[in-house]
Amino acid sequence: MKTPLQTSPDGTQAHSESQAGDWNFCPRCSHRLAWREAMEDGGPRLRLRCTACDFTHWNNPTPVLAAIVQCSDRGDRVLLARNAVWPNQFYGLITGFMEAGETAEEGIRREVQEETSLEVQSLSLVGVYEYQRLNQVIIAYHARARGEIRLSPELCDYRLFEPHELRCWPQGTGQALAQWLRQQDIEPRWLD
Ligand SMILES: [Zn+2]
Repeated sequence: MKTPLQTSPDGTQAHSESQAGDWNFCPRCSHRLAWREAMEDGGPRLRLRCTACDFTHWNNPTPVLAAIVQCSDRGDRVLLARNAVWPNQFYGLITGFMEAGETAEEGIRREVQEETSLEVQSLSLVGVYEYQRLNQVIIAYHARARGEIRLSPELCDYRLFEPHELRCWPQGTGQALAQWLRQQDIEPRWLD
C-alpha cells in the first residue's frame, strides 16, 4: 500500500494533504459542497457541507501506523528506511495508512511485511501522536521482527542502527522514537 511518507523528509507525509478545502463535490449525490455553518453538539460550526443533501465533510484525521522495527536477528538493531522520493538523506520509521477491516496491529504487521518483507514477531504500542499539518494521527508501535530484508519499490535504502546511535526528529514519528528510547533508558538525541 502507498506509504504516507512521500514528499516530506521528516518521517511523515501525506497521501492527500487532506485539507477540507480539497473537496468540491458531494461524494453521495455529486452536488457542490460549500462552506456552511450548522448547529452541532459543540455549537455552530463552519464546515464543507453539501448544498443538496445533508452530507457533511467532517475532515477527520487519517490514522497512520508507524513502526520502530527492531531486528532480533541482527543484533537488535533498529531499521530506518528512506523513501525513494525523498530529496534528502533522511531515514525514518516504517509507516502506512490503516486500512478498512483491519486492526491497527494487523495493519502495522502488514506494512512492515510489505515494505521490508520482515516478519513481525511481537508488537507493543509506543504512543499516539498528532500530525496536524497533514491532518493525521500517528499510532506508533515498537515491532520485533526478523527475516530477510527486501524493500518495496517505494523505499530505496535502509540502515540499521544501534539504539544509542539513533537521532530523533521533531515531527510525530520522531517523537515516538524519542519516547521509545526513553523507555530503553536512552536519552534521545536529535537531528540538527
Ligand atoms: Zn449531497
